[in-house]
Amino acid sequence: MNQVRVRIAPSPTGEDLHIGNVYTALINYIFAKKHKGMFIVRIEDTDRERIVEYSEKRILESLNWLGLNYNEGPDIGGSYGPYRQSDRLKYYQEYAQNLIEKRHAYYCFCSPQRLDEMRKKQQLERKPTLYDGFCKKYSLEEAREKAKKEKYVIRLNVPDEGVTEFNDLIRGKITFENKLIDDQILLKSDGFPTYHLAVVIDDNLMKISHVIRAEDWISSTPKHVLLYKYFEWKLPIYVHGPLLRNPDRSKLSKRKNPVWVSWYKEQGFLPEAILNYLALMGWSMPEEKELFSLEEMIQNFQLEDIKPVGPAFDIKKLEWLNGEYIRKSQISNLKSQIYKFINGKYPEDLIGKTIPLIQERIKKLSDYLPLCEFIFEEPQKYEIDLSSKKDVMFAIFDALQKLGEWKAELIGISMQEVAKKLGMKNSEFFMLLRVAMTGKKISPPLNESMEILGKEEAVQRIFQWVK
Ligand code: GLU
Repeated sequence: MNQVRVRIAPSPTGEDLHIGNVYTALINYIFAKKHKGMFIVRIEDTDRERIVEYSEKRILESLNWLGLNYNEGPDIGGSYGPYRQSDRLKYYQEYAQNLIEKRHAYYCFCSPQRLDEMRKKQQLERKPTLYDGFCKKYSLEEAREKAKKEKYVIRLNVPDEGVTEFNDLIRGKITFENKLIDDQILLKSDGFPTYHLAVVIDDNLMKISHVIRAEDWISSTPKHVLLYKYFEWKLPIYVHGPLLRNPDRSKLSKRKNPVWVSWYKEQGFLPEAILNYLALMGWSMPEEKELFSLEEMIQNFQLEDIKPVGPAFDIKKLEWLNGEYIRKSQISNLKSQIYKFINGKYPEDLIGKTIPLIQERIKKLSDYLPLCEFIFEEPQKYEIDLSSKKDVMFAIFDALQKLGEWKAELIGISMQEVAKKLGMKNSEFFMLLRVAMTGKKISPPLNESMEILGKEEAVQRIFQWVK
């Protein structure tokens, strides 16, 4: 195999990197690593109306956050740049002219009104809405003259007959009838290329060996195949992976599932867990192993093994997997992840002390603060009104005061004694103590939490009910 060079080509038209694009990026990345190839990011920003200003920056940040490091890209450069299509306009113009000369493309001067009428008529006649070739009648000289004065686009000259075929590595041969392929606009009247022209030129100039993308690009591929043929370029190997889908099989969409990487980050999903989960969307490890690292995936991965249809995207399963990753984390690692996640709001060493208490209990980093905030701040609310429990509080206060060594075990023994002395049921007594310390009826293990709080703070939390 020649050098493997693969790419993702996100369009900066959304909030951030789409989780579906993360899936595509992951397969490209793994495949590149497996074959010691290059993984490239190209920004496809030719659809000027849909551009979202900060999108490119976030897309690149998200790729880095996920650890899908790329070898060439708009921010780091490379030998085949620029890697942003709006910086490559000269290529598209030049190659469009090349097609015009070979009559594989032609100028089209049709007005929006004419195109609209044409489409309406086609719809009425229940025909496919394709450009009718009206402007093919001009000779090249006539068209060039007209183009000096009138607005124009450049269209692909698709043969009326025959078929266009390509081989997809995981789907086999896919055939399209030429009469159903539109004379696609290649260059728009603003001088910008459409996706179809730009993607083919760039993939060729950037020496992309395998085009690995989602299945919704299959219907565009025959246009690309024709372009490769007209340019007399070697076709890349095509792989159209499965789309991520909602449980009802519709394409994963904002309305039914969160789609932006930023959401997953804010929720405290770990990059490793996200990638591990996505890997399962169309591929499986030997023996259906569910938890595995990128390294293991690289070792076992074969492009051919990707299934054309994946399971539905299931956020509950991702949560479960994320919890598994949290449990597997080293304490020091989890500590610093939580510290970063809460933007350094509370001291890192104190967070470290709480980890053994909560590591088994949280599924996402965002579960941490609701469970542990009482360690850092006095509770704002108490789930039981303790003002009528003065006697109990006083007995606790007294016993805690007298404790010499402040250790979870000793705190526990002393509190058992207090409960006994008061003749209270353990469950009832410890519920009051728990609420006094944490504000909540459910909390991490109490004695250990009190040890972390420290004697002074714990006594103070009781004392306020005695005053
Ligand atoms: N710009 C396209 C996208 O936004 C790229 C499709 C392709 O990979 O060819 O997904």
